[in-house]
Amino acid sequence: MKKIYEGKAKILFETEKKDILVQRFKDDITAFNGEKKDEIINKGFINREISAIIFTYLKENGIKNHYIQSRGKNEMEVLKLDMIPLEVVVRNIATGSILKRTWIKENTEIKPPIVEFYLKDDSLGDPLINKSHIKAMKILPDETIEKIEENALKTNTLLKKFFMNVNLIIVDMKLEYGFANNEILLGDEISPDTCRIWDIKDKTILDKDRFRKGHKNVLEGYIEILERIK
Ligand code: ADP
Ligand code: UDP
Repeated sequence: MKKIYEGKAKILFETEKKDILVQRFKDDITAFNGEKKDEIINKGFINREISAIIFTYLKENGIKNHYIQSRGKNEMEVLKLDMIPLEVVVRNIATGSILKRTWIKENTEIKPPIVEFYLKDDSLGDPLINKSHIKAMKILPDETIEKIEENALKTNTLLKKFFMNVNLIIVDMKLEYGFANNEILLGDEISPDTCRIWDIKDKTILDKDRFRKGHKNVLEGYIEILERIK
């Protein structure tokens, strides 16, 4: 397969079908815009498993996405998307970067959830932007931004339910969208690398914050999430 892109967490390959790509989930883990790096054996496999389960559930519940099927240990076939250069973050509980920008106190529930847009540009440090910026840069017209916001909120509602069923809380998440045949689809991955997930009872952190905070047993948190949802 011809490699067409290698990012921090995944590699994309072309396939014999021009509208289908293979995403290979790497064991590499990074934080703080790539400043902190490590390798966690099997993380790629666990994240691929978690993402596949979540994309399947979302599809069954009306959220169109790029997932086709899993293959091998670390790979999934996906529809090739023309990616929108935005990271759409939905927040249910305040933690992480929002604490540095607002008066919202750590761990408070955010109701209704906050939706944020970040420009996907590593050289600018993925800055927080608003709908006017998106319009001014001609990334998307107004009605498409509204559609994406609506989709992100619906995805959040579904994922809150999904995780609640197995006594987990989805604190926040990063979503990415792209176009295929003029349709907007949810793409990329949905995993503990891109969401914050806590145990409902004791609020144990099970996601990449373990790595960001320098805790041991990062993979154990990811495995706990997979065991509960599968
Ligand atoms: P990064 O690029 O931030 O280092 P990754 O290592 O996860 O992140 O790279 C995966 C890349 O693939 C991202 O840039 C993402 O936008 C892109 N991508 C995700 N899903 C698709 C898809 N279905 N088609 C094309 N590109 C995709
Ligand atoms: N996130 C992500 N990729 C990024 C930035 C954030 O997947 O480049 C996820 C992060 O894991 C969390 C949510 O988006 O689930 C909100 O992250 P936040 O803005 O709090 O950023 P951070 O604390 O990572 O700086």
